[in-house]
Amino acid sequence: MIIIFTTLFIILLIFSIKYPWWLPNKKGIIALMYHHIYKYDDTCDLEKEFYIEPETFEKQIDFLLKHKYTPITLQDLEKSYKDNLFTLPKKPVLITFDDGWQDNYTNAYKILKKKNVKANIFIAYNYIGQKNCLTWEQIFEMKNSGLISFGSHTVNHVNLTKLKDDEIKTELTQSKKLLEEKLLQEINCFAYPKGAGAADEKIRKLVFDSGYEFDFSTKRGITSFKYNKKKAINRLFIKQGKSLFSFYLNITKGKDSF
Ligand SMILES: [Zn+2]
Repeated sequence: MIIIFTTLFIILLIFSIKYPWWLPNKKGIIALMYHHIYKYDDTCDLEKEFYIEPETFEKQIDFLLKHKYTPITLQDLEKSYKDNLFTLPKKPVLITFDDGWQDNYTNAYKILKKKNVKANIFIAYNYIGQKNCLTWEQIFEMKNSGLISFGSHTVNHVNLTKLKDDEIKTELTQSKKLLEEKLLQEINCFAYPKGAGAADEKIRKLVFDSGYEFDFSTKRGITSFKYNKKKAINRLFIKQGKSLFSFYLNITKGKDSF
């Protein structure tokens, strides 16, 4: 009997060292980061972890809805900081996609539309219309549905830390301006390609000087609602091959493992 209890205790201990299930829930801006919603095959360019199968994505959306989370747009988030009369739903969550891949329309949007769920795409402007990327037609359709909102992810999807100041400025201002002209709406949110520059004070200053009001990193975690531009907003990278338990830990604890 003692052996059984000791074994169970050790298993629980190891489990608790690995998984933060016992931590208190974190409150704040829950921002999920996706790239591809696509079943990984040998035609794929990015690493496997960037590809979430449509069925898995749908299960994650169902999990959010079942647990009374409300997906919001970047505009909803902006409004909650600017308009005192506007309050966010009780358990808001930002579903974000980086780069602007075609499967965001063919697979993700199909599911989001069916369930009437809001999401956001950070677009690298020069990717639009390229192979495996979104077309303007798809972007307009998603925008007009009112479900999908857009942010900037630079013009050329470049690592900002590798550029000169004036080149950084061009990437930031041009992507904002070009998207605004096409979409006829303000683009105030920015996500750093590969997360590069998100912790660099000089680059962050250039982001805000270019007119953006919110910046998103790829750093794991949940950022407090008191976001005051001190640090970029963290995001939870939803990776391929992880369980719903991992998804639950991410959205409640801000991480799925230690
Ligand atoms: Zn990217």
